[in-house]
This record gives sequence, C-alpha cells and structure tokens, in this order.
Amino acid sequence: MAAILIDLDGALHVSGEPIPGAADAVARLRRDGHRLRFVTNNTTRSRAQLAADMRSLGVELDDDELQTPAAAAARALAGKRILALTMHAIVADLEGVELVGEDADAVLLGGADETPETNLVFSFMNLARAFSELEMGADLYCLHRNRWWQTKHGPLLDAGAFVAGLEYAAETEATVLGKPSPAYFGAACEALDADPELTWMVGDDVEADIAGAQRFGLRTILVRTGKFRPDAVEDTDVRPDGIVSSLAHLPDWLEEHA
Ligand SMILES: [Mg+2]
Repeated sequence: MAAILIDLDGALHVSGEPIPGAADAVARLRRDGHRLRFVTNNTTRSRAQLAADMRSLGVELDDDELQTPAAAAARALAGKRILALTMHAIVADLEGVELVGEDADAVLLGGADETPETNLVFSFMNLARAFSELEMGADLYCLHRNRWWQTKHGPLLDAGAFVAGLEYAAETEATVLGKPSPAYFGAACEALDADPELTWMVGDDVEADIAGAQRFGLRTILVRTGKFRPDAVEDTDVRPDGIVSSLAHLPDWLEEHA
C-alpha cells in the first residue's frame, strides 16, 4: 500500500463546496490500507479550523494528519522576531515565534482570502513597513507564493503577487515554507515514515503540487478540479504520472496503476 499526500483546496473542495465523491474516496483509500496525509497551502484558517471544515464536508481526518504552511513557519522561525503579514486566524499556529512591529529578524508573508481582512493585511502601509524591514536586513519568508487560486466566483489574486513585489523592491529572494518547497514535502513524508519514491502527491496545482513534489522525488497525480486548466498542462514541461477527473476516481486509478 502507498503513502498518499492529498491537497485540500481544489481537490476536496472549492470555496467550501465539496468535490462530489471526494470524501468517499478518502474513506476508501483508508479502507484500501493507504497511509494518508493532508497537505495544504491554506494560510487563512488555523489547522484546527481547517480540519473541522474538512470533517464538516464528510472527510475523515484527524487534526494531526493535516500539514499547514503556518506549522512549517513555526518550525523554521522559532525564537525569531517576525513581522507577519498574515491572516489573524493562523496566529495560533505560529507558536514559538515572536510577532513584532519593527526590528524584525524576518518578514513573513501569508496568504489572501475572500474577506476584507486581506485589504488590511496587504495594505500599502504594511507592505511599506515590510520593505523597510527588508532594507534593514530582515530575511523574507512566505507561506507560499501562489499567483492565484480558484474560488466559486472565479480566479482570485493570491499573495504570491505581494511576495514577488517585495522581492523586486528589496532585491531579495523569499524562502518558501509551504508547497512547493522540498522541506514541506520532506516533512510530510517523514510524518508518514514514507520514502518519497513510494509516495504519491495528489493535487490541482501544476506548480505547487505536481512540479514541487516531482522535484522532491514523489510520484504525482493531477486532479481535473479546482484550479486545473487544460492549458496549464499543455503549456509546461511538467508531466504528472497520472491525471484523474477528480479525487473520486483516485482509488480505482491507484488500483490499476500503482
Ligand atoms: Mg489546491
């Protein structure tokens, strides 16, 4: 049986609307004996909130099966003074990090969501403050650098645009903590005690899920839901090992191909 890393947004749901058959597929993967870990780039809900959200969609998972970029940030930045441009909801997951308004060791950029809080987090004032800290020597970290994500109203600008903007202005390069960073996939494999070559990554994002996982040596399956676009596959050299129409088809696909 395999170890399987499963994305949340776009694979299990879109804007909280469940992908039909996805919850049943998770149940069947467990019955088939696969070891599962849920790996999200969500930066707008705490781990406990996210796990509860997934359970409310009928997906069986425990809080500790869910890996978030905020937890990765807490590990990477423990004990440091951090200027955080992040949603309030994830502050609980930044345990061990000292959040400051100035004299920061590092600037941490989080993600956007569909609420007005995004306007406050990425205000000009906050971005200019972050730029000043970078100019004074702080390191730049980001939870992810996604360009956009799929909402039920269509594609929405994501925080990667602000990461790129600060990199440009301060002539620096951000360290990515969530997908597609190798450390993030490494932590997921370690949690399952799994070899990367024997582990599958399943997600809807060609860059963050598929290309990132492939660079770490994982096998990959792209789902045609969420932010999946046919031209995203045609326009890149990234070739997932498999493409399924949705997570609902994953158990059969694995039975045939794994
Ligand atoms: Mg996704």
